[in-house]
Amino acid sequence: MTGALVLVGTPIGNLGDLTPRAIEELGRADVVACEDTRRTGRLLAHVGVRAPSLLVVNDHTEPRAVGEVLSRLDRGQRVALVSDAGMPGISDPGERLVAAASAAGHRVEVVPGPSAAIAGLVASGLPAGRFVFEGFLPRKGSGRRERLAAVAAEPRTVVLYEAPHRLSRTLVDLVEVCGPTRRVVLARELTKLHEEVWRGPLAAAVEHCTDTEPRGEYVVVLDGAPDPGPPSDDQVREAVAHARQRGLSTRDAAAEVAGTLGLSKRHVYALALEA
Ligand code: SAM
Repeated sequence: MTGALVLVGTPIGNLGDLTPRAIEELGRADVVACEDTRRTGRLLAHVGVRAPSLLVVNDHTEPRAVGEVLSRLDRGQRVALVSDAGMPGISDPGERLVAAASAAGHRVEVVPGPSAAIAGLVASGLPAGRFVFEGFLPRKGSGRRERLAAVAAEPRTVVLYEAPHRLSRTLVDLVEVCGPTRRVVLARELTKLHEEVWRGPLAAAVEHCTDTEPRGEYVVVLDGAPDPGPPSDDQVREAVAHARQRGLSTRDAAAEVAGTLGLSKRHVYALALEA
């Protein structure tokens, strides 16, 4: 058996979602790295896997755990990495370990399992062909404002994680940057008894959360920003005027603006002459 770091997906609620391959890998691992030994111990007991040794890897211990994991990999051991739920490395520890293991030339394998982001996205009914995963937004300050602005301008579907006690605040902030009519989906308690997928415009989502206090785990799926359509003639003239202010000739300004906006040079030049 070759040594490897094996990323193992675990259920996001329904224990029936643990795959046979995940059970096999957890059973053959020399050590299971996990966020919480009690939680993972319960999962292993549920599937009848006799707990090998458990190593705690959470946000605080991951930097220190890297050395231990690398030395086990050096000895040819198989280290399975799980998080509390879903895929390790997705808003959970794992990324640092994978980077260190691969940089040291070790094998990294993956046993894919559920991830709330993907489950929420596909259940949402919003376009899933192209999407962006944003995880948890920064809680406050300029970091939050900048990320909200980026989310609002994003043309692809955006997938967010949010804690129930922060959901209303986040929806209110999203209304502010995206407007009240942008479609949103609140995918709650996926795969669990109280699974619910609520769909509607952002303003109604705020009302929904005022009427029904958010409880449990949520994925927020936000429709992408609408296509702004071609720029108006006034916007084109304004862009040319800005370029002229930078010292460009009318012809050069028109050519630059045409290139930036994807319009024909002749059309932009004609508008520039009118101005
Ligand atoms: N690694 C996990 C994954 O792959 O989905 C995500 C871990 S992150 C710390 C936990 C967040 O995922 C929760 O706060 C919630 O936003 C989302 N989440 C996890 N399980 C969920 C579920 N069953 N239903 C809806 N959202 C869930």
